[in-house]
Amino acid sequence: MYDENNIFAKILRKEIPCDKIYEDEFSLFFNDINPQAKVHVLGIPKFPCTTFSDFIKNTDNKIVSSFFKSVQLVINRLNIEKEGYRLITNSGINGGQEVPHFHIHILAGEKIGRLR
Ligand code: AMP
Repeated sequence: MYDENNIFAKILRKEIPCDKIYEDEFSLFFNDINPQAKVHVLGIPKFPCTTFSDFIKNTDNKIVSSFFKSVQLVINRLNIEKEGYRLITNSGINGGQEVPHFHIHILAGEKIGRLR
């Protein structure tokens, strides 16, 4: 069940600010408040979805497609494709998800270490 009081829902409702990188009809991208790399951007759909699986299963294909096209658009804007980047989405307890609104981490700007 979606928690309307999660921090990204508050950002989408403009109740708290974010350091915006890009926004369109379906998605919002902003800098992570606690960056784990020189570039650390978060991308979220503007719809109530808790995880990647929730987003894929319960959201219109047009919106899913638009969201991932926007991820690439932000990659272009950040100029990180040539040197590389890492996309991460954490899901649930085992995935270590802290904020229960589906989001993609875009990490770049330096070599990202192995998880273990
Ligand atoms: P996850 O563990 O995948 O749920 O990641 C949540 C991410 O949200 C973490 O990297 C946090 O640093 C980031 N975060 C939490 N609050 C904010 C905020 N107000 N603005 C930007 N990033 C945030």
